[in-house]
Amino acid sequence: MKITDIETIILRLPEPVLANGDNLQDVLIIRIHTDEGLVGIGEAHTSPTVLKAIIDAPISHLTTQGLKPLLMGKNPLRINELWNAMYDHTVSYGRRGAVMQAISGIDIALWDLLGKATGQPIHQLLGGKLRDAVPAYASDLTPASPEAMIEQAQSHADAGFTGMKFGWGGLGGNVKSDAKWVGEIRAALGPDIALMLDMGTPVPFEQAVWLAGALAEQDVYFLEEPLSPDDLDGFAKLVAVSPTPIATGEKETSRFGFRDLMERGGLRIVQPDIARCGGITEIRRIAALAEVRNVRVIPHCWSTDILVAATLHFLATQRDAPWQEFNVMNNPLKSSLSRKPFKLADGMLRIPDGPGLGIELNEETIERYRWTP
Ligand SMILES: [Mg+2]
Repeated sequence: MKITDIETIILRLPEPVLANGDNLQDVLIIRIHTDEGLVGIGEAHTSPTVLKAIIDAPISHLTTQGLKPLLMGKNPLRINELWNAMYDHTVSYGRRGAVMQAISGIDIALWDLLGKATGQPIHQLLGGKLRDAVPAYASDLTPASPEAMIEQAQSHADAGFTGMKFGWGGLGGNVKSDAKWVGEIRAALGPDIALMLDMGTPVPFEQAVWLAGALAEQDVYFLEEPLSPDDLDGFAKLVAVSPTPIATGEKETSRFGFRDLMERGGLRIVQPDIARCGGITEIRRIAALAEVRNVRVIPHCWSTDILVAATLHFLATQRDAPWQEFNVMNNPLKSSLSRKPFKLADGMLRIPDGPGLGIELNEETIERYRWTP
C-alpha cells in the first residue's frame, strides 16, 4: 500500500468568537489517501492554517521539511518508521508546538488506516481493550452568572454525568469569587459529583496557592492550569503545598515535554491531547513515563469526534483510565461531524469497535464548514 495524497481540510464556524475560550471554532481534518482506495482520517488541533502550511511545505533541507512530501509514496502501515521520519526531518524547526501538533493529526490518520487495512479497531491493534466504556466528565464554558452556572451544573447531572469541569466565562477573573462559586455548585450538587476547575489563563503564584487551599474544602478533583505552562518551577512549588490535585498539559507536546512536566514540574496529573502531543503513538510513550511515576493521565479532549474516538481507543487499553473529557457545547463541529455522534450512556462513553477509529464523517458537515484561506 502507498500513500497517494494527504488532504488537509480546514473547517471553520462562520463567525468565530475569538474572545472566548472555545477552541473548537476551527479545526484541521486530515485525510490520507492510498493506492488501494482506503482513506485514513485524523485531526490536528491548533491554528489550522499554520498546520496546513507545515504539512504542505516543500523541503528546505534535510532537517527542515514539510510532512506531506516526506510521506508521499510511502507505506502508511509502517507507522513507527513514518513517525520517526516526520520527527527527524523537522527537527530544526519542530520537536515541540505546531509541528508536533501536525504530526499528531497524521499519526491519528495512520492508525485509522492501519485499522481499516486489517479490519481491526485501534484498541485491538494496541493490544486489546481492558474495558468497554470510560466515565466521561462534562466539559463546558461557564456562564457569566452564578444562577446560570448552577443551572448548567444541574443539567449535566441530570444528563448522567458523574464529573464536570468548570472554567472560563464567569470563572477565572478573581480567585475569591471562583472559590465562592465552586462552593455554590458543590452545595447544589451534593458530595458525589467530581468537580474540576480549569483556570485556562494563569493567575499569580500566591493566588494559585490560596485557591488550591480553598478548593480543597469543596473536594475539588483537580485544579487545571493555574500557572503558565512554562512555569515548571512554579508548578513544582504549588504541587508541593496544594491540598487540591493540580493538573496541566493540554498545551504540552512530546514525551520530552511531558517528562519535564513530571520531573521538574512535579505534576501528579497530566493532560496530553492526542491531536497535539504527537498522536496515539506518542501518548502511549507519555503514558508509560507517567505510569512508572504513578502519575495519572487524564487526556485533554475538546474537539471533534475524531479526537474523542482516538482518546477512547487509547484509554481502553490503559490500566488507569479515570476520565474521558467530553465537550458538551452546542457546536456543529462537535455534534454533527461524525455520522453517529458519541452519546453518553449511564455516565459513560462506549469504546468504538469498528475498524480503525470506528467512526465515519458526515460529508455534508464538511462541505458546509469547509474554509479556504
Ligand atoms: Mg483546559
